[in-house]
Amino acid sequence: MKFHPQEKLAMNLALLRVGIDDTDSKEGMCTTYVGAVAIDRLKAQGIKLEGYPKLIRLNPNWKLKTRGNCSVAFEVRISEHQVPLVKDVVLGAVNELAELHHETTNPGVVFYQGQKIPAKLKAFSKKVVRGVATIEEAETMAREIGAEVHKFKLGRGIIGALAAIGNTLEHDWTFELIAYRIPKNWGTSRKIFAASVIEMNSKTTPNTFDNLDPSTGEIRITPHTPCPILYGIRGESAEIAIKAHRLVKALEPIERVVIYKTNQGTDEHLRRARIAEARPNWSVIVDGKVCREPRVIPGGHVIFQICDETGKIDCAAYEPTRRFRDVVKKLTVGDKVRAYGGIKEKPELPLTINLEKIAVLGLAPVLKKINPLCQRCGKRMESEGRGKGYSCKRCGIRLSAKAAKIVAVPREIEPGFFEVPPRARRHLAKPLIRAKPVEREY
Ligand code: ATP
Repeated sequence: MKFHPQEKLAMNLALLRVGIDDTDSKEGMCTTYVGAVAIDRLKAQGIKLEGYPKLIRLNPNWKLKTRGNCSVAFEVRISEHQVPLVKDVVLGAVNELAELHHETTNPGVVFYQGQKIPAKLKAFSKKVVRGVATIEEAETMAREIGAEVHKFKLGRGIIGALAAIGNTLEHDWTFELIAYRIPKNWGTSRKIFAASVIEMNSKTTPNTFDNLDPSTGEIRITPHTPCPILYGIRGESAEIAIKAHRLVKALEPIERVVIYKTNQGTDEHLRRARIAEARPNWSVIVDGKVCREPRVIPGGHVIFQICDETGKIDCAAYEPTRRFRDVVKKLTVGDKVRAYGGIKEKPELPLTINLEKIAVLGLAPVLKKINPLCQRCGKRMESEGRGKGYSCKRCGIRLSAKAAKIVAVPREIEPGFFEVPPRARRHLAKPLIRAKPVEREY
């Protein structure tokens, strides 16, 4: 068999997959930045990535996450003798940049040289997005597939690092272009020309999404944390993200830009479940009927209950979901809904779905009894008291209680999908605008 020189070259090259997680703390840093620095340092050594680096969001209900529960992975095709160099660069970046002094920062780095991602690693990755895994499970998995793990301190990050390598983004994916600030500016207020973001949004949406909050006009591409990110633009393709980035005017220096392929906005965290199957730490899609009216609790949160043939569960639209709560408040007992959302582990509280979106599938009729009209004068008759019938004082006509009319009260809500605003959206939650991305020239 004859091989093309390029193929021969590729055969002699090693495919090294790198996963990184748990490098930041609430006070600063971001795993995507550590990844970006490592990638740029490798490029400076002439080592280019295969495809896009991946930004993988993990279980949004996981209690030990710092913020958005993200991890990073990328792949390089290199000569065998370059493998130690890549490992040095990656481990060096983690060592230098991770918030190691912070108790809850426990970085993990994984290197994997397999040609294909084994099915069991894909399954592990799903588990970390949809459930919970332990450090021991990650170590066992790494041993079984022959991956090399590097634990800093507790090394919890190997869970996310392995999960990022194992997520092949096969069914759905999005892109995020991230522009980073120069270190001098970290922790200061971000300077960006707001009008340029509005223009960018109008020129690139719906192929970019969550740039602005439609109800408040608030800019959503800039985070509010002391991390190195100036802004992140999310979109359906790398091309649209680049176009959008060119439209945004930063009023401070940008240190570097990276485009990540991600599982953000894909609903990968959700699984279909019946109510009795729902578990803490899961994110679920549950069909049910409203069985307890929505009520507002202190703090402005709206809670109602749904049931199916297996049980009952609370659903919550929390205060930050703002106007979404007004939709939810219009539900009534008997309405058929499909609830989408996460279940946090709160031992003292009943299981509650923290709603990300809701589909109203069917509305229960709301009926009201009204007094009959007088057959002679056409005026509404008066009630004589409970069960005692009706009378028209003017005409002297009397009717029995059975004459009451039962009418349907118009509902203030219609069947359809409703979602929380971008400010309250989980990174993994698929925005409704992505349900049918519009193909556009850009
Ligand atoms: P940021 O998004 O700001 O980079 P973060 O929110 O990703 O930070 P980390 O600092 O990475 O949070 O901490 C999360 C830790 O929990 C990591 O060590 C990760 O490996 C681990 N982890 C993430 N998801 C799970 C899960 N489903 N089960 C067990 N461990 C998890």
